[in-house]
Amino acid sequence: MPKPSQRMDKLGPYLFSAIGAKVRELKAKGFKVLSLGIGDPDVPTPDPIVLELIRAVTDVNDHDRFRYGSDWPLDVFPKAVAQYYRKRFGVELDPNSEVVPLIGSKEGIAHIALCYLDPGDIALVPEPGYPVYKIGSLLALAEGYSMPLRPERNWTPDFSSIPSEVLKRAKLLWLNYPNNPTASCVNLEFFAEAVEFAREYGLLICHDAAYVDITYDGYVAPSILQIPKAKEVAIEFGSLSKPFAMTGWRIGWAVGNAEAIKLLATVKDNIDSGIFRPIQRAGAKALQIWCQDPSIVQPLIETYQRRRDFVVNALRRLEIPVQAPKGSLYIWSPIPQGFTNSQEFATFLLERAYVAVTPGGGYGSAGEGYFRISLTYSDDVIAEAMERIERAMGR
Ligand SMILES: *Cc1c(COP(=O)(O)O)cnc(C)c1O
Repeated sequence: MPKPSQRMDKLGPYLFSAIGAKVRELKAKGFKVLSLGIGDPDVPTPDPIVLELIRAVTDVNDHDRFRYGSDWPLDVFPKAVAQYYRKRFGVELDPNSEVVPLIGSKEGIAHIALCYLDPGDIALVPEPGYPVYKIGSLLALAEGYSMPLRPERNWTPDFSSIPSEVLKRAKLLWLNYPNNPTASCVNLEFFAEAVEFAREYGLLICHDAAYVDITYDGYVAPSILQIPKAKEVAIEFGSLSKPFAMTGWRIGWAVGNAEAIKLLATVKDNIDSGIFRPIQRAGAKALQIWCQDPSIVQPLIETYQRRRDFVVNALRRLEIPVQAPKGSLYIWSPIPQGFTNSQEFATFLLERAYVAVTPGGGYGSAGEGYFRISLTYSDDVIAEAMERIERAMGR
């Protein structure tokens, strides 16, 4: 066998695979482990979307339904994305040049690195952050420079602290709000500052908006494309995965700067052949229904909000000063006093309560001192897990 590439050395196991392995090991020994680790909705995709998939897949009059999904003129999905942007953010997009469908947004988040990064180039990535931003840079044999997020700045990067040698080599600037894992939310002022910064240093902003429609307490999350002229320096990634509980369907999009969208579409044309057409039709349906009446996602939001409140209250009973997030599917909490780091606390919970949480240190040292709980588990699982945690902590 030949020697694996240098990329594979850099890659290592995906963060959640490593945690999953430990959970599987305990389960194999017969322990009933409850995982609160991964952000993958337990609730079903709303019926009208599933029914549209069935309709589209069985539509014998659509002779092209099983053909490659990348070929025009199947523009129903990009048009639906543009309609959603107009309705949701008041942003106009040309479905032909400013929208590219993705096989889940993770796919595009990894591939945009190939469009811009050569060896020696840098992507600015938030830490803690979704691992794929940095992984994309490594796959391109470029580098990720970690911008530490700090609680005193509401978990936003301090652009002024990035060294000028780094900025000279930087091409991409990754942002993600509502944020995973910190659940932090921002307003348009922060996006305006980021756009200004990107213009000054010739960067392409890649904003990951996976949780833009999972918000609570009346908070409405903005799009970076709402900033005037943002399209000159920014693209935004979106996904049906989280708001419509469609993670396994693999459908999302990138929108914004036409040059960047074209490059991403070119990479994709060369290595994949699009999304299964009936899934594109069902995805379009999801957005069309949303545009008519956003209450289609209300039951999902209410479910997560109920779980959020339950977990926050349980942690506060343990005297952990946790904030109730205004968005995302996560509780990002300080570890309790008496533990030296997040790995120690996560191991304690796994071994003493058989509950898996994600240690903040797994996202890099800036995540140290925190842990993440995902709200994508049933009410019963969350209730039992929190009870076990309270018991293990001596309550
Ligand atoms: C879940 C998630 C995504 C990716 O979702 P897809 O299923 O690939 O569309 C992207 N970014 C963040 C921050 C996520 O948590």
